[in-house]
Amino acid sequence: MGATAVRTMKGYVFAGDGRAELRELPVPEIASGEALVRMRLASICATDLKIIDGRIPGRPGTVLGHELVGEIVAVADGVRGYAPGQRVYVPGDTPCGQCYECLGNANGRGCHADGTIAAFHFATQRDGAHAEYVAVPYAQANLTPIPDEVTDEQAVVMACGGSTGFAAVESSELRMGDTVAIVGQGPVGLAATVAARLRGAGYVIAVDVIPWRLEMSMRLGADVALDATQVDVVEIVRRLTGGWMADVAIEAVGTPQTFLTALRLVRPAGVLSSVGNYGMQGSLTLPLDAGAFMGGIGEKRIITSTSPGGKERGRRLMHMIEHGKFDLSPLITHRFPLGEIGAAYELFRDRREPVFKVGIRP
Ligand SMILES: [Zn+2]
Ligand SMILES: [Zn+2]
Repeated sequence: MGATAVRTMKGYVFAGDGRAELRELPVPEIASGEALVRMRLASICATDLKIIDGRIPGRPGTVLGHELVGEIVAVADGVRGYAPGQRVYVPGDTPCGQCYECLGNANGRGCHADGTIAAFHFATQRDGAHAEYVAVPYAQANLTPIPDEVTDEQAVVMACGGSTGFAAVESSELRMGDTVAIVGQGPVGLAATVAARLRGAGYVIAVDVIPWRLEMSMRLGADVALDATQVDVVEIVRRLTGGWMADVAIEAVGTPQTFLTALRLVRPAGVLSSVGNYGMQGSLTLPLDAGAFMGGIGEKRIITSTSPGGKERGRRLMHMIEHGKFDLSPLITHRFPLGEIGAAYELFRDRREPVFKVGIRP
């Protein structure tokens, strides 16, 4: 360690049995290839709640959080080209950068180093971002310097949900002029709304069940926002598109019901890009009627994506923000100090007021 005299820190830990608590922990030691980062801003994700609730396997005693902007304190051997004090974006998924998948695809989307699913190390395999200090694995492949023009808030929203929403559009291969319907307008869906516009969609239809989310959709560039509690979304989209339906539907919630809605919104030979996190229990069904999976011969493509990490993607995301191409920082609607993180989780879970992302400061 050496670079700091501090020996203990606060960290918000999954305690098992649906509980989490703030604990005093040792500052992490870094191993070869890792970097020690002092948290400047972290944010809470629905995945953190799913870990606490047991819907995504977690390990009791592990620090939660995987959305991080920080400052480098120290790097271990094997990490070159970085300096203490540097402000960095840390992707939520941290691919190894060295396996065959990573070498063929810098986003590391197929990386399963250390037995992870999609390079998701933080908060499941190792301590995560909701602490004063974080040991970042595969630092050389992931630490992304942040340009001075980019704020911590603009950067942190990309670490997980932002990158996922962009990936939903990228993997759909949406063409300029296409109609896209995005089911779910939480942080992931809103990032997809922004990405669809950037990618040149002709018509962007946003769907949610919460009025303040639909307001944000319009603010961030949707052409129309549909409240699924008020209208029959499939029928309205049929009418709005003259019967064509969506070339691309994006599922950004992660429930069997929203998956079905998205499936029914896709035209024959269209693409359903599914990025909602369904958890690891239960199953999805594919109804075979003409409006859904079309007997399996409708040429619909269903694709999934993770939250791509790696510094090459990080560099391009930061580059777009630096030059004013988009700004998702309005999604940070609340800020709490780490000492009050329990209240932050509560607010994020209960949504008693409009909340997209809750930022955590040291
Ligand atoms: Zn996340
Ligand atoms: Zn890898």
